[in-house]
Amino acid sequence: MTSPSDRRAVFLNEMGVGPLWVRRDAAPASAASEPLMPAAAAPSASEIAEMDWTQLQASVASCVKCGLCKNRTRAVFGVGDEKAKWLFIGEGPGRNEDLQGEPFVGPAGKLLDNMLRAIGLKRGDNAYIANIVKCRPTGADGKDRAPTPEEAAACMPYLQRQIELIEPAVIVALGKTAALSLLGLDQNIAVAQLRGKVHRYAGLPLVVTYHPAYLLRKLSDKGKSWSDLCLAMNAYANSR
Ligand code: SF4
Repeated sequence: MTSPSDRRAVFLNEMGVGPLWVRRDAAPASAASEPLMPAAAAPSASEIAEMDWTQLQASVASCVKCGLCKNRTRAVFGVGDEKAKWLFIGEGPGRNEDLQGEPFVGPAGKLLDNMLRAIGLKRGDNAYIANIVKCRPTGADGKDRAPTPEEAAACMPYLQRQIELIEPAVIVALGKTAALSLLGLDQNIAVAQLRGKVHRYAGLPLVVTYHPAYLLRKLSDKGKSWSDLCLAMNAYANSR
């Protein structure tokens, strides 16, 4: 049996990936004010709430509920065990994810996989990975950016349905966008203010930690993310 300090050492070792992070620029004002597509062109939240996995995936693939549909290569639905006890939720697809159709690929995805491994999980095995928005947000400069609150709200019914279908025991919100969107909090709240406590989303325990892309830039915060995962493991243990 590995001791907590050994596991922490393994975790920090697993997290020792170089600073390959690409900054998500803040959303430009023009994107935030971009009008959404007409509601008639997309399923309603109540229709989405009745969908099964196949219907949900097909609906996301052809979705035009918000302006992010215009620049996507492909929608990124989510990946993993559809009955996973662990659900990890990030912000939205970046360039690599948009091309490959899978969340968390590239350096940040590698780091997330290492984080999963450190707590005895792996992608597709008792873990599901999704994002707040399914289509890649890009700024006027073509670079990745965070989704606007309007885009997050437009896409949320899909994630809500995924959560209902998965029935996870614990949710880990990766980064500010995921945490604030799921908890319905003010945009000015920092991740640091939300860490260290077990929140609730639809009655499920939810722990907030840093986004792996942020951790690749801020190496000194990797130890904090280990504490967050320990808190999530406790929440998981208490849920059983
Ligand atoms: S981000 Fe979500 S709501 Fe917007 S077009 Fe893509 S799937 Fe639809």
